[in-house]
Amino acid sequence: MHSATKRLEGKVAIITGGASGIGASAVHKFHENGAIVVLADIRDEWGQKIAEDLGENVTYVHCDVSKEDDIINLVDSTVAKYGKLDVMYNNAGVVDKAFGTILDSTRADLDKCLNVNLVGGFLGAKHAARVMAPRKSGCILFTSSACTHVGGLATSAYAVSKYGIMGLTKNLSSELGMHGIRVNCISPYVVVTNILPSDGWPVKEDEVSALGNLKGHVLKPEGIAMAAVYLASDEASYVSGLDLVVDGGYSVVNPTMIHLMERMRL
Ligand code: NAD
Repeated sequence: MHSATKRLEGKVAIITGGASGIGASAVHKFHENGAIVVLADIRDEWGQKIAEDLGENVTYVHCDVSKEDDIINLVDSTVAKYGKLDVMYNNAGVVDKAFGTILDSTRADLDKCLNVNLVGGFLGAKHAARVMAPRKSGCILFTSSACTHVGGLATSAYAVSKYGIMGLTKNLSSELGMHGIRVNCISPYVVVTNILPSDGWPVKEDEVSALGNLKGHVLKPEGIAMAAVYLASDEASYVSGLDLVVDGGYSVVNPTMIHLMERMRL
């Protein structure tokens, strides 16, 4: 790729949950765009393989985002090795289950979602901000979810963990603006990745796509990774506090009306 098209040239980025799905795609896209990438995950074999395949500008660090010592080691070892941290993409996440109401949910389901999705994001942002603030520059990103825009897309345990990310995005953009740090999140519609449990969820891309609003399109991990490239790049240099919803319009459309109109046209 020609250097003029490398939108993240010279930037050092950490991507959590980088061993699979959206995070793995982001690792590839950030690398293609000239960033030095530190891929953090708990799936050591997958993470190491991606780092080996991509070569010297991608390294793997084992990090359980729910453990503060792991996050401190991730951030501090990145700064020790590369001299700075420009982008912290807090993307690691889990679901409790595909379906179910609060009547089926356990305290353990809630703890699981909160510990990884919310506590992990909070700790990642905190320690990234610690090293970014003295440099008066930085970009913190999160993967939230379109379930924060419309009810019924996920379990309540998962949804509240992602609503917390929305809160963090807004509050941190206020707290960290004075330090020149931008904070944004991305809210995807369903993407077929390893996160989706196989207990009845339509795990095939064509089925997920058929349930979506934007017909003839399939949301792939790359669709979210490129939103992250944009937000991490200087093209978004005045964008902060944004929740970039990548859902093909799903959360703003009332399907009942669409179906009615389709029937009336027949
Ligand atoms: P994925 O399972 O393919 O990837 C998630 C990665 O996070 C995995 O590599 C996993 O090992 C890692 N991870 C899990 N727990 C971790 C921990 N404690 N510490 C470090 N890493 C950990 O799933 P994905 O779909 O790529 O999910 C990425 C993000 O996107 C998640 O935050 C998820 O909630 C969010 N998201 C996904 C969808 C979707 O439909 N796939 C939709 C909206 C939001």
